[in-house]
Amino acid sequence: MKFAIISKGDATSDKIKRQIMQYLTGFDLEHDEKKPDIVISVGGDGTLLYAFHQYVDRLSETAFVGVHTGHLGFYADWTPDELEKLVIHLAKIPFQVVQYPVLEVIVRFNSGKGEKRYLALNECTIKATEGSLVVDVFINGDKFETFRGDGLCISTPTGSTAYNKALNGAILHPSLSAIQIAEMASINNRVFRTIGSPLVLPEHHKCIIKPVNDVDYNITIDHLFLVHKDVKSIQYRVAEERVRFARLRPFPFWVRVRQSFIGD
Ligand code: NAP
Ligand code: MN
Repeated sequence: MKFAIISKGDATSDKIKRQIMQYLTGFDLEHDEKKPDIVISVGGDGTLLYAFHQYVDRLSETAFVGVHTGHLGFYADWTPDELEKLVIHLAKIPFQVVQYPVLEVIVRFNSGKGEKRYLALNECTIKATEGSLVVDVFINGDKFETFRGDGLCISTPTGSTAYNKALNGAILHPSLSAIQIAEMASINNRVFRTIGSPLVLPEHHKCIIKPVNDVDYNITIDHLFLVHKDVKSIQYRVAEERVRFARLRPFPFWVRVRQSFIGD
């Protein structure tokens, strides 16, 4: 089995990276940054987002596991004092894998400039670079609403505890193959009207956003910031691809939610 380790880059995470490296090579596992079967991220949830995007082109061959060097994370759920247990588990082939949905985002451009496809592990947000975001929202081909406000956040179930939660979106269990659309400060009065509630779309449902005015858009894909000009539409749906996590011990999602947000 081939492994790669990605560290957040601080002294503690780098030290743990070196320890894992030593342990795993001691077990005769092969270090391979290019084509790993398992990627170990050491840092926080942000580090795992970075790792996901480093290996986004080989999701079907690579599984992820996260060690946290700060607070308990949703993706980084192993503590540094569990390292030995973790590497012993990893050395046992094959380990169990759980698969979670990811979000497919397709940005299409005007005047024959083609399209760009992205996968997000947490979410995609869209805002106008200046003024309010004004977009028509279509669901499965039917116009749903014209949205006016700060922006929209389209998240995965595992991303539902991140930005989506701050927008009062629901927390979705990652066994649900779905995406969630949450509003950022929509303008609602007698002239402008949006649904106001977060929407959850199942697999195969498509949400398409079409700009009403000609402005540039700030689009985020997880921790990545992009500016797109000349956008014709942005399409969202549950991706065909899934993200794979090594499941080495039970750690129920709802327990993680409680420990992260409510405490013990
Ligand atoms: P960051 O500013 O460090 O992230 C903000 C916080 O979100 C960090 O505490 C991060 O954990 C945590 N986080 C990331 N993914 C999560 C998840 N799936 N569930 C629960 N918490 C999660 O930036 P970053 O580390 O590069 O992460 C990018 C993410 O930040 C974006 O994908 C977005 O979800 C989130 N964000 C949130 C808000 C908000 O809540 N208002 C605004 C912008 C962005 P770690 O400290 O362990 O990295
Ligand atoms: Mn972070």
